[in-house]
Amino acid sequence: MIAYFPTAYPDELLYSQLARYYTKSGYLAYTFAAEELFLSKTARPDMDFINHYTPAAVQAITRNMSMEAVIEKHTMFPCYGRFLPRERRQKAFQALVSMMGNYHNLLPIPQSKNGKARCLRYCTACAANDREQYGEAYWHRIHQLIGIHVCPVHWCYLMDSSLMISGKATPSLKTTEEIIPQSESCVSADNEIEIRVAVYMAEVFQADVDMESCVTVGEFLHSKMAYTKYRSVRGEQRNIALFHEDFKEYYMALSKNKFTELWQIQKVLTNDRVNFYEICLMAMFLDIKADKLVHMELPKKSQQQLFDGKVYSLHEQGLKYPIIAKMLSAPYEVVKAIGERRYGAYHKSSKIPLKSGMKPNNWGQIDEATLPLVKDAIHQLQGNGTTRPKKVTTFAVEKILHLSSKKISLHLPKCLAEIERHEESQEQYWAREVVWAIRQVEDSAATLTWRKVRDLTNMRRSDFEACLPYIPDYAESELAEKILNLL
Ligand SMILES: [Zn+2]
Repeated sequence: MIAYFPTAYPDELLYSQLARYYTKSGYLAYTFAAEELFLSKTARPDMDFINHYTPAAVQAITRNMSMEAVIEKHTMFPCYGRFLPRERRQKAFQALVSMMGNYHNLLPIPQSKNGKARCLRYCTACAANDREQYGEAYWHRIHQLIGIHVCPVHWCYLMDSSLMISGKATPSLKTTEEIIPQSESCVSADNEIEIRVAVYMAEVFQADVDMESCVTVGEFLHSKMAYTKYRSVRGEQRNIALFHEDFKEYYMALSKNKFTELWQIQKVLTNDRVNFYEICLMAMFLDIKADKLVHMELPKKSQQQLFDGKVYSLHEQGLKYPIIAKMLSAPYEVVKAIGERRYGAYHKSSKIPLKSGMKPNNWGQIDEATLPLVKDAIHQLQGNGTTRPKKVTTFAVEKILHLSSKKISLHLPKCLAEIERHEESQEQYWAREVVWAIRQVEDSAATLTWRKVRDLTNMRRSDFEACLPYIPDYAESELAEKILNLL
């Protein structure tokens, strides 16, 4: 029976609270405590997250707050879960609340590399402060954020303790008091950017997690580049090479920073990389306030839509295209093409970052640099659920990237392989299109009929029938069943 159980301190890791329970309860050996707390007494106490606890332990842990609040305020979930796509974010959270071990597969938890294990860290000033205020020090969550080296409160360097956060350590529950020295002076940080990053990350980390937001980080960061030099006047082109240059320069003094490559930035923008530290660096660089980053919202109209709207209205007022082009500082051809409604989706593109000095026959390097853009283009073609999907072909990708035809198949083998990996048969593509159309109909709250789908897709009945076997690949079972019953 668990008679006494300590209350959690602000920002304390659940692991730390359990360790304090263990040392204060006078167990003869760790095994007895483990038996009391964990369903499997050989379980290794998880320092970042949770374990599968016994009913008695759950009762003690949730005496003053719900399990949901424990996960949000006393585990590292707000760091690893916050920026995941909505469905995965919710699944991971539920997995933690119900103490299912599969949260490890749902959260992007970094593995320690090169055999360098992470340790629990602490701030000597925080420890001194805690001892004064609470009579003991404890393990804080904010000190464990990967990528920060400075205490966000005291601006002094964090210290590594001897407690390793790794699967190989002997299971134990150790309090801060047992591990760290009684008095130790703190070393103040004087690296401004390092301090600013730490403060920013802690602020984002400690904000409530928005469990409902459907906006992805990639989309959000892209939208925040609107009207900066990193997007063209109309907003359809992203100058990622320039962004990369400025970003590197801005964080030059940040020590141990491994987030410096163009392809890494590109992957954050395409949502292929969800890393708390990297997202915070990009957001801080773009001057996004922490409270905006934790509740991501997209503008009602994109930069492109607003720009096109301006062209239309100025033209309707009787202004000629050359004048409009001057007023909006945009190329005449672009303005004219928009005015004449000639602009299509094919112009949503990013520039190929040809580094200066890169010779045109340096195909290996070009292949490497173009690959992230090809991935971006493939995403664009597949659509985001609201935009109509297009068929992924080498030709379509070349068109988006303004590459002359056959360039990819002749010179860029990695890009070609990526496209081939996403190529679909006509029937598979039709299936994707049908799923898109049905979502459109459902979103408009109209009754779903085959006729509506036909009108949206221009698809013949025989084509529709031919794609039916592939529908389950693109739709959840409930939706798939609706589609199969349409005829
Ligand atoms: Zn501190």
